[in-house]
Amino acid sequence: MLTVKAYGATSATAPLAPLTIDRRDVGPADVLIAIRYAGICHSDIHTVREEWGPITFPQVVGHEIVGEVVEVGSEVRKHAVGDRVGVGCMVDSCRECEQCLAGNEQYCLEGNIGTYDAIGRDGEPTQGGYSTHIVVDQDFVLKVPDAIPYADAAPLLCAGITTYSPLARWGAGPGTKVAVVGLGGLGHMAVKIAVAMGAEVTVLSRTDAKKDDALAFGAVRHVATGEEGALKGLRGAFDLIINSVSAPLDMDAYLATLKPQGTLVNVGAPPEPLPVQVFSLIQGGKSFAGSNIGSIRETQEMLDFCAEHGIAPETELIAADGINDAYERVLAGDVRYRFVIDTETL
Ligand code: NAP
Ligand code: ZN
Ligand code: ZN
Repeated sequence: MLTVKAYGATSATAPLAPLTIDRRDVGPADVLIAIRYAGICHSDIHTVREEWGPITFPQVVGHEIVGEVVEVGSEVRKHAVGDRVGVGCMVDSCRECEQCLAGNEQYCLEGNIGTYDAIGRDGEPTQGGYSTHIVVDQDFVLKVPDAIPYADAAPLLCAGITTYSPLARWGAGPGTKVAVVGLGGLGHMAVKIAVAMGAEVTVLSRTDAKKDDALAFGAVRHVATGEEGALKGLRGAFDLIINSVSAPLDMDAYLATLKPQGTLVNVGAPPEPLPVQVFSLIQGGKSFAGSNIGSIRETQEMLDFCAEHGIAPETELIAADGINDAYERVLAGDVRYRFVIDTETL
């Protein structure tokens, strides 16, 4: 067992604080990673504040992890000491169900094993990336291409794959019109990736505050949805909408902006239900969908795609003692566009 420094939650209401956690011994198929950077995802906040339901404490969150391999188990062939690697939102799955066998570990019928707030196959609680080291099975460790700087790579492990996967699955590309709702961590990656795929991208954000950024990321249009009647002018405009908002929205108003047979994919995960009028779907044969992160194979594909297309997130590097302030800024919509923790400051 390895005792390592971390920053975590001791209750749903107390600020995160320094603590130590134990990592398991490196097993035959395991990789020990010295974490260099960890991104802050809004899911970390939903989780530690128990917005999605009760969790166990202490809880160390963080599932946008990059670092260097410092030790490998005797059976490890996929990674070597010194490799630049990443870990995203899951660290294992059953590997036997039809979804796992088809390479969709994120949809494992037993439930994928989350990087934090889950029970690992060793029976111990998993703890996430706001820490100096992590032990992960080699099959759930990604290779970070040399072209992507470490700190930039971190947000790709959740925000990148969570938006790449539905954009790829629903065919974003030349000739398609894609709308991205909410320009935060996920939203800004959705814009950059959809643009690189060749789609024509519109950003739907509450105000004009991030308009210049949206256009700089390659969007052709930005609409401030907080303005009266803003969505009415967009009736039937989009083939695909990626909704990355962390709170409930008026779904019928957004569904009306889809073309017939278009799809609205929810990646944002508000704790509350999202009511939908069935006629918003029936008329126009529209689909109301959801998407959860992406598979390991697809995450590697996304990293390679970002390296090839020179795609990087916009990051603000912070020290560990800035995590609580960063949470408040995420909640206030004041993040441009992903906070990344320098784990040396732990
Ligand atoms: P984030 O950085 O906070 O971005 C969310 C954006 O939504 C904000 O920047 C804001 O954009 C908009 N927004 C926030 N509150 C709003 C409100 N009350 N009404 C309208 N718009 C609002 O969060 P994130 O890290 O990108 O995560 C977004 C959501 O995705 C979270 O719920 C998270 O848990 C979820 N998530 C899901 C998956 C998955 O696999 N499905 C993976 C990761 C995260 P504007 O200021 O531009 O309006
Ligand atoms: Zn996340
Ligand atoms: Zn499975």
